[in-house]
Amino acid sequence: MEHLIHQRVKDMQITGIRRFSDVVAQHQDVVSLTIGEPDFPTPDYIKQAGELAIRQNKTGYTHIAGLLELREAAGHFLQQQYGLTYDPISEIIITNGATEAIAAAMRTILDEGSEVILPGPVYPGYEPVISLCGAVPVYIDTRDTDFLVTAEMIQAKITDKTRCIVLAYPSNPTGSVLDEQCVREIAELLSDKDIFVLSDEIYSELTYEKNHFSIGSIPCMRNKTITINGLSKSHAMTGWRIGLLCGPAYLAKEMLKVHQYNVICPSAVSQFAALAALQTDHDCTESMKAAYRERRDYVYDRLIAMGMDVAKPAGTFYMFPSIRKFQLPSQEFALQLLEQAKVAVVPGDAFSEMGEGYIRISYSYSMEKLEAALNRMETFLQLLAERLKE
Ligand code: PLP
Repeated sequence: MEHLIHQRVKDMQITGIRRFSDVVAQHQDVVSLTIGEPDFPTPDYIKQAGELAIRQNKTGYTHIAGLLELREAAGHFLQQQYGLTYDPISEIIITNGATEAIAAAMRTILDEGSEVILPGPVYPGYEPVISLCGAVPVYIDTRDTDFLVTAEMIQAKITDKTRCIVLAYPSNPTGSVLDEQCVREIAELLSDKDIFVLSDEIYSELTYEKNHFSIGSIPCMRNKTITINGLSKSHAMTGWRIGLLCGPAYLAKEMLKVHQYNVICPSAVSQFAALAALQTDHDCTESMKAAYRERRDYVYDRLIAMGMDVAKPAGTFYMFPSIRKFQLPSQEFALQLLEQAKVAVVPGDAFSEMGEGYIRISYSYSMEKLEAALNRMETFLQLLAERLKE
């Protein structure tokens, strides 16, 4: 019966991140820097709201777009933080994490043969959905521009089949952040074009030096931007599965259908917890961010001291050092680091072929763990460098 399974599904792969995690799981005493989620527990006031919802039997279906109070709180949050003006009734959908939002958006706008521009290295969650829709990913290589895409680079890839451009910033895996000037130039390029922007802003709260700037807040982009956000990273809520899918009303009403027939609505309990998260001040995000920043500075300084070629990330909790000078493919480098030094990182090729020659380090781990991992890595790199000289 296997021949009856859809070929496009058969062609899909489990992400390189998960595949490598399975390899890591077979080893003992490893210090792992692979996971892309906060190491903090969900704050108590959020958990308590979830518990209360259970006790009060608020456990049924909600409106398919999500609890109205939650959509209102989300609208207020997006307005206050990023100047986005989405109407809670007709333009905001509560989804099962940003992941479901990405799928609902892509399945709404992509046709067979549509082209989707993806600046790479890139989070591996987009390409499989694009391919499942019969659409085609078109990559832009940002390795020589500090992992930042420019309007000019996008222009060079636009064809009459281009349906969408994915902007995912702050970026997983590189930690790079598009600044306002650059976003405005992209908006200017697209202002007279019928091309959607899917702006994945799941790390928007985790920027260090500058605040995040949302492309959907620029008036000429409002009608063509799909803004995706959520509470997974900002509020340490990855397992609660709450995302935000926002777009102009004419588009949101179509995305809502795809969402309904896929999930009806996210867990009611999670929605009540998310409501508490968004109705309270952002203290929890600020304190987590302060910890990530301290860790970022520590990891960056240590890597530089080891002679690694690495850019200081402006956001997220990832760092993406180059390993090209060690003349090993990223899979092989990560495997040797795992086997010889018992440190796990993600091989860069998990983030498209443009990630080859890099590794992704997550610094959403305690300082003790980071220190232990970096000590081991330092010894490993010294040995590797010596072997190279021989
Ligand atoms: N988008 C990016 C860029 C991510 O890195 C991730 C998770 O790592 C997601 C979306 C998925 O977020 P969620 O857990 O809310 O589905």
